[in-house]
Amino acid sequence: MKQFQYICPTTQQGVLDVINKPGTKIIAGGTNLVDLMKRGVTAPDKLVDINHLPLKSIISTPKGLYIGALALNSAVAEHELVARQYPLLAMALKAGASPQLRNMATVGGNMMQRTRCGYFYDTTMPCNKRAPGSGCGAYEGVNRMHAIFGGSSQCIAVHPSDMCVALAALNAVVIIAGKKGERRLPFTDFHRLPGEHPEMDNHLAANELIVGVEIPNNHFAANSYYLKVRDRQSYAFALVSVAAALDIENGIIRHARLAMGGVAHKPWRLFDAEQALAGKPVSEDSFKQAAQLAMQGAKGYGQNAFKLKLAPATIAEALKHAAGLA
Ligand SMILES: Cc1cc2nc3c(=O)[nH]c(=O)nc-3n(C[C@H](O)[C@H](O)[C@H](O)COP(=O)(O)OP(=O)(O)OC[C@H]3O[C@@H](n4cnc5c(N)ncnc54)[C@H](O)[C@@H]3O)c2cc1C
Repeated sequence: MKQFQYICPTTQQGVLDVINKPGTKIIAGGTNLVDLMKRGVTAPDKLVDINHLPLKSIISTPKGLYIGALALNSAVAEHELVARQYPLLAMALKAGASPQLRNMATVGGNMMQRTRCGYFYDTTMPCNKRAPGSGCGAYEGVNRMHAIFGGSSQCIAVHPSDMCVALAALNAVVIIAGKKGERRLPFTDFHRLPGEHPEMDNHLAANELIVGVEIPNNHFAANSYYLKVRDRQSYAFALVSVAAALDIENGIIRHARLAMGGVAHKPWRLFDAEQALAGKPVSEDSFKQAAQLAMQGAKGYGQNAFKLKLAPATIAEALKHAAGLA
């Protein structure tokens, strides 16, 4: 591993003063970044440890829930407020990684984790995300885990997070600090599709720091479910996952929220299916129709074509669980 400088600022301003320099990387829990450094995928000159910043709080606000960027995945998943009011988030977090990893991984780091595409990790292979212009090994190669929505000829990698799928469904807002102050970004606009620039995963600028996320109050606590389909029951990334949340009154769906993981370069919101569910009775038929609608524009690339059938089945099943019909 290349030698690097390690610094540990104790103030947010201290972090913002140094992160803008090329070759500088923030480190939080280190569960992704250190792997990438060991594999030679990234080789920073300077690591800026942000663990001394006061960004661990999980607090109720008049508008909803605020979670600091350094709150641990395990702390969020086990928090009483999250379990009671945002069970979808707790379920998604508990479906991710392992207890040991969740004890190190932070909310900000989880959002910023890189894809698990094998070509991205293997520095002997082409990968436009790791080495722009080198090609995409997965496009016609080993692509069983890859995207069926929103891919480009440059990249069909997926974002691997479970937590982010729930946060996208819950209309979370990302709070970002920069030299000019704070800005807020809808969670669904934080990550980006690969297009011509797959090296960019999201819309965070190099001189910015994620300080927290906010989840607005909602009426989904009684009827939400996170369903993750994977090769092993634990310690495996999603082939397909679905975050489903329903607001039901007298057997009729008032509002629905749906997002998928394991299918795109970003958490994939199913806006058309959500709209189609609004006003429909709670029934398996409504769920199957919405699932079919959600698949418009999906495309398989060979080995991952099975996801074209797996995804709608997972959507319908997640909705059944959310509605209490499973
Ligand atoms: C074996 C294994 C299995 C896993 N399985 C799953 C899984 O099933 N589901 C899942 O969702 N995840 C899974 N993960 C990924 C894990 O959740 C992430 O590694 C973790 O969330 C990253 O958080 P961290 O704090 O350790 O980030 P770090 O490794 O410290 O940082 C990751 C990136 O985030 C940046 N960063 C960190 N904090 C901030 C901030 N506040 N502002 C701006 N940039 C920041 C860093 O610069 C770096 O680029 C797995 C990981 C491993 C190793």
